[in-house]
Amino acid sequence: MTSLSPETVKTIHHASELIKNSHRTVVLTGAGISTPSGIPDFRSPGIGLWTRYLPMEVASLTAFRYNPELFYKWLHPLAGHMLSAQPNPAHIALANLQNAGYISTIITQNIDGLHTRAGAKNVLEIHGTLNTLTCINCFMQVSSDGVIQEYINNCTIPYCQLCGGILKPDVILYEEQLPIKIWIKAEEACQRCDLMLVAGTSLEVMPSAKLPIFAINNGAKLVVINNSETYIDVRAEVIIRADVVDIFPEITKIVLC
Ligand SMILES: [Zn+2]
Repeated sequence: MTSLSPETVKTIHHASELIKNSHRTVVLTGAGISTPSGIPDFRSPGIGLWTRYLPMEVASLTAFRYNPELFYKWLHPLAGHMLSAQPNPAHIALANLQNAGYISTIITQNIDGLHTRAGAKNVLEIHGTLNTLTCINCFMQVSSDGVIQEYINNCTIPYCQLCGGILKPDVILYEEQLPIKIWIKAEEACQRCDLMLVAGTSLEVMPSAKLPIFAINNGAKLVVINNSETYIDVRAEVIIRADVVDIFPEITKIVLC
């Protein structure tokens, strides 16, 4: 863990007080909470996933339909990282806070399932998940248990056992709508909360980036924990400019003491 400045310690205490005194806290997480688990932020340039391929050429719905082989080739290193990744202290701290009754809903833009694996409940995966796949032909949904591992090990593209169509991971690609039922739940959670924590996300991807607005417009307080600026910082009661993995365990210690 990096040593925290006195200013950061002060903001951690302020955020902890807000959490203790709130009745309904919602957390929105992004790639920043998963990078300490070894999962690269696949939207960031220069980490290999976007440098070899243009996103729209491989990770859009059109691209998937025309060239699923290329999509699966692109996904391979990312899926490999995700399958071997373990929840980190930030995931575990959030799950502990939630299990102690301090967090009602965790909304995540991540597709790695690490919040749930850390023991969190009521996790809304607004950008989808690698846990299931759906046939693009007959829409049968299957668990990725075994299927993804087989693909990681042997680069085998998964096909539907019912109709032979190609299976697409239930992650949201460019040109795709977010899963509507999950999105509505996320919107409602933000509208009903009295405290929102934005953690490990630069809020650059729409429409997820507007979720904190629903919270603020309904009177909720806002805490931003991120190592770079976000557009919503100006509306935040507390800004903690640090990695979430250094902050959430500290917050949890204070709140649960
Ligand atoms: Zn099928």
